[in-house]
Amino acid sequence: VKISSITARAEALGLTRPYAIAFRTVSSVENVIVEIQADGGLLGLGAASPEPKVTGETAEICRASLGEGELAWLIGHDVRTLPALCRELSRRMPHAPAARAAVDIALHDLFAQSLGLPLADVLGRVHDALPTSITIGIKGVEETLAEASEYLARGFAILKVKIGDDLNVDLERLRRLREAAGPDVRVRVDANQGYTREETIRFFEETEDLGIEFVEQPVSAGSIDVLREFPEAIKERIAADESLLSEMDALALAAPPRACGIFNIKLMKCGGIWSALRIAAIAEAAGVDLMWGCMDESRISIAAALHAAFASPATKYLDLDGSLDLARDVSEGGFLLEAGFMKLLELPGLGVRLAVV
Ligand SMILES: [Mg+2]
Repeated sequence: VKISSITARAEALGLTRPYAIAFRTVSSVENVIVEIQADGGLLGLGAASPEPKVTGETAEICRASLGEGELAWLIGHDVRTLPALCRELSRRMPHAPAARAAVDIALHDLFAQSLGLPLADVLGRVHDALPTSITIGIKGVEETLAEASEYLARGFAILKVKIGDDLNVDLERLRRLREAAGPDVRVRVDANQGYTREETIRFFEETEDLGIEFVEQPVSAGSIDVLREFPEAIKERIAADESLLSEMDALALAAPPRACGIFNIKLMKCGGIWSALRIAAIAEAAGVDLMWGCMDESRISIAAALHAAFASPATKYLDLDGSLDLARDVSEGGFLLEAGFMKLLELPGLGVRLAVV
């Protein structure tokens, strides 16, 4: 199964619903789509959605990393040597994790297709279906409630609310949301580094009766020591996102006394499935639960994250709503979303295909 050609192209995907989080407003989306062809007619698909504020990888760096000639070294390699190819990829592209993820995802897609199995089965599937949260950006109380009721009507049972601009406003929004949504809706929040240590403690105190599942990245990415000093009961309900890019970060966060109880893995931060599974193994060994998150991404890389998520016993939470608000996608298939639960299509590889335009 020799690799015969590789192409990459940037695609503007657009957003139907621009949104705000604690460090920026997002109104447009570009993904770089990678296609890897192998002898025998197999086509592997990958996609990159860089997040410069988190990883330092700009759209320009991402495009350049996947540009003319950069991937030519892969031509002629047998995709069944996947681990060696992934290791070489991470040596060659250390500073462009989303670009690396796009190639890594396409290679995994090809590899599993060559075996005739869904990728999750090749990786060691332990889950068949899990519910995903859907995200509500930072906005006013009434808009928050309106968006929540729309999502609940669509079958989602877990809401992830972006907070971190103003603690008092956040508390008011969450109180009103809990009143409106009732006790059964699961609510998790993401502060995107917006709180101080003191605000984080106050948030936990003042939301004790609101049934908040956990808080993603309350303090700045570099504040691992601040996390580490929180009481155990708080740490268990903190998910590291911007603090967790690489395997090294996972080791630092998990080292006793550990800094948090949950890791948010995103393929675009760590560089793809190969690194994600190494982080997942660290989490599993350390007793840390996994959440699988995403940027604004086509179905290609969302499906890739879902395959990887289903292959770790540590996986507990999904936050894979990144393709739902795209104005257009270049791909279809990959997964099903039914009553808020995500399932795979059970086709060889990722199960995604290019959309017929
Ligand atoms: Mg986050």
